[in-house]
Amino acid sequence: MIRYTLVCNKRHEFESWFQSSAAYDKQAKRGLVTCPVCGSAKVEKAIMTPRLARADSSAPEAQEPAAPSAAASPGPMPAVPGPATPVAMISPQEQEFRKKLKELRDHLVRNAENVGPRFPEEARKMHYGETEHRSIFGIASPDDAQALSEEGIEFSPLPILPDERN
Ligand SMILES: [Zn+2]
Repeated sequence: MIRYTLVCNKRHEFESWFQSSAAYDKQAKRGLVTCPVCGSAKVEKAIMTPRLARADSSAPEAQEPAAPSAAASPGPMPAVPGPATPVAMISPQEQEFRKKLKELRDHLVRNAENVGPRFPEEARKMHYGETEHRSIFGIASPDDAQALSEEGIEFSPLPILPDERN
């Protein structure tokens, strides 16, 4: 069985069941399909929009009430009081690197002379041959460091370990 929505030449819409689409064609051609309102035999299939066709089957689903309990959150996360601090998760590789960095730093500090703020001056003396070359370390302002670099004096920043407290 197949159900058609039909419309007559006076725009009356009605529904009718047929054995098949071929059976509808045959009956319509012979004038056997008539409008129940006005009796006109000039009927044709109404254009079924997809929305109209789907309305019957989807209507009960659309009427289902929403389940607010399922979407409810289990409650707010407890706030953590206190100031923020820098934190890190350090991988084993980085732990190893950090260890090597510390070894390098310790080695430098042990074997080099701490010249403190005289670093730029001492570095220049060595660079221009006024004193013997040796390892030194100290402090240099960004301006000093740039000036030394422009004079072609090679130096390295001393590795700083972020969490060292001494
Ligand atoms: Zn009609």
